[in-house]
Amino acid sequence: MRDLDRALAARIRLLVLDVDGVLTDGQIVLGRAGEEMKAFSARDGIGIKLAQCAGIEVVFLSARDSAIVRERGRMLGVGEMHLGEQQKLGALRKIAERHAIGLDEIAYVGDDIIDIPPTAAVGLGVAVGDACEDLKEVASHTTDAEGGRGAVRETIEAILKARGDWKAVLEGYLATR
Ligand SMILES: [Mg+2]
Repeated sequence: MRDLDRALAARIRLLVLDVDGVLTDGQIVLGRAGEEMKAFSARDGIGIKLAQCAGIEVVFLSARDSAIVRERGRMLGVGEMHLGEQQKLGALRKIAERHAIGLDEIAYVGDDIIDIPPTAAVGLGVAVGDACEDLKEVASHTTDAEGGRGAVRETIEAILKARGDWKAVLEGYLATR
C-alpha cells in the first residue's frame, strides 16, 4: 500500500470494515449440519486494538449476518456491528449521521463489487490486495496483503504511521500488556 497523505489520515475518525474477504479470506466453510466456520487473522485483531487505542472507532458492516462474526467482534471490543445490510452505502450514511461525522472522516475496507458504493463515497476507500478489479478502480488505495491475511492490519498501520502516531500507540498498547 503506498503511503497515505498525512492530512487525510489525520481526518479518519471511523474505520468501517467489510467482513467476508476482508477480515477473512472470503471462504465460508460449511459443516454437514449447516454450521459455519471462518478464519480470522490474529494480526488484524491486534491492529483493531491499536486503532481503538488511537481513538479510531472500528465498525463491522457486512451483507451477511453471522454468529461467528458477532463473536469475533465481541472478542475485539467492536461495539458497532451492522450485519445483514444489503444497502451498504445507505447503512454507512446512517452510521456517519449517528456519529455526527462526514463520510470524508471514514475509512472503508472492502473486497468485492458490493463494496464499490461505500468505497467510492468515503474519505479513504481501501481495496484488499485480492479484491476484484472493479473495486480497485474506485479505491484510493490497495493493500499489499490479501483479505484475511493482514490487509486490515496494513491499513491501520498506514493510517497511524501517516499521522505520526504509530510509535506512541504501540508503546501505549505494550504498556498495558
Ligand atoms: Mg466482502
